[in-house]
Amino acid sequence: MSSENEDHAESVAAPVWDVVVVGAGPAGASAAYAAATAGRQVLLLEKAELPRYKTCGGGIIGPSRDSLPPGFELPLRDRVHAVTFSMNGKLARTRRSKKMLFGLINRPEFDAGLVTAAEKAGATVRTGVAVARVEQHGPAVPDRRTVAVVLADGETVLARAVVGADGSAGRIGAHVGVKLDQVDLGLEAEIPVPKTVADDWAGRVLIDWGPMPGSYGWVFPKGDVLTVGVISARGDGAGTKRYLEDFIGRLGLAGFEPAVSSGHLTRCRSDDSPLSRGRVLVCGDAAGLLEPWTREGISFALRSGKIAGEWAVRISEAHDAVDARRQALNYAFAIKAGLGVEMAVGRRMLKLFERRPGLFHALLTGFRPAWNAFANVTRGSTSLGEMVRAHPAAQRLLNTLDK
Ligand SMILES: Cc1cc2nc3c(=O)[nH]c(=O)nc-3n(C[C@H](O)[C@H](O)[C@H](O)COP(=O)(O)OP(=O)(O)OC[C@H]3O[C@@H](n4cnc5c(N)ncnc54)[C@H](O)[C@@H]3O)c2cc1C
Repeated sequence: MSSENEDHAESVAAPVWDVVVVGAGPAGASAAYAAATAGRQVLLLEKAELPRYKTCGGGIIGPSRDSLPPGFELPLRDRVHAVTFSMNGKLARTRRSKKMLFGLINRPEFDAGLVTAAEKAGATVRTGVAVARVEQHGPAVPDRRTVAVVLADGETVLARAVVGADGSAGRIGAHVGVKLDQVDLGLEAEIPVPKTVADDWAGRVLIDWGPMPGSYGWVFPKGDVLTVGVISARGDGAGTKRYLEDFIGRLGLAGFEPAVSSGHLTRCRSDDSPLSRGRVLVCGDAAGLLEPWTREGISFALRSGKIAGEWAVRISEAHDAVDARRQALNYAFAIKAGLGVEMAVGRRMLKLFERRPGLFHALLTGFRPAWNAFANVTRGSTSLGEMVRAHPAAQRLLNTLDK
């Protein structure tokens, strides 16, 4: 942190943070961790008190595990070794794996742990603080190398660089001008169940291909609570709600009172969407970084958050707008070369899945290479992008099915 106006000893100088991060989900906590580990003065601002609830299945796939701070103990509630696939409640078939496929966590616990890791790395955390807006010009901004982060109560915090990680309904994405090409509505219920029911689900998830194009539902067990949810394109909220009710009813879970029922939008960026403006970068849901087919977003948040934290450090050191822009472009390049490629494949998968859910079901339940690919992607030994790159046959199959 440096002090402005050091020559005016009588006035209280406003501290200027190297990096201010807005939002303490996985993206923000990762960004704060990365910038603090680089030895910079980092302030992480979160509007909620922690731990806070977040509508999410809490599925932790391999790339999420691989992007955690070193030594971070994953608070796993269950380890998935079997997947039951069904088509709107019919044609159920279970596939099993000796090796763990993916893990399941509770978001409040997981997110709070990541924030603690960022704090231990040296970041300062303020909770219960909502950011109203950021300003890069005007009276609140003392010089061209500074961004003013204006809080809801009117307080202004100054930074050399800002990372917007305030989720899918955040303010910073709007400041940057994030453009979207897909918005979905996820509905979820956290259902406490008796031990006999919990035992039946231990180590096994259900994935149900839904009645609306591109929709699907899931049961993720977490000990004595089942997270049951559905996701579908935004626009038919009533239909999505009906799908969740039918899904819960079919599973014989309608008699158990959910501890939490909630909904949340997921948003995917368009290919040409900006990832920065001036000294402000966006990452995670705030940037629309999410796998379009499965709507998996934790690994995208962790990975983009880490990269954003690293490039925010460079921006904080930039002497002028041209240098800041160069670093911001480097950030965009790093995101597009990695997560952007995965999103492009995910978009094609979603299009295909919307048209031919039955084919996906048949392949995953009846064609071993497809199941192996699913297992490898969830374990993190490959990614959708890598599979298409490395296997010309997969590329050809996608091209054929695309027609
Ligand atoms: C129903 C559903 C199920 C899902 N299931 C999975 C899953 O199983 N696995 C998976 O990988 N992904 C899943 N996702 C996606 C995943 O939840 C998100 O992609 C992930 O949470 C993104 O993390 P983030 O840090 O970018 O944003 P968030 O987790 O949303 O965090 C943003 C933070 O910013 C804070 N904030 C917002 N506005 C402000 C402000 N103005 N000032 C200060 N703080 C602010 C919020 O309080 C919040 O803590 C699911 C999504 C939905 C909707």
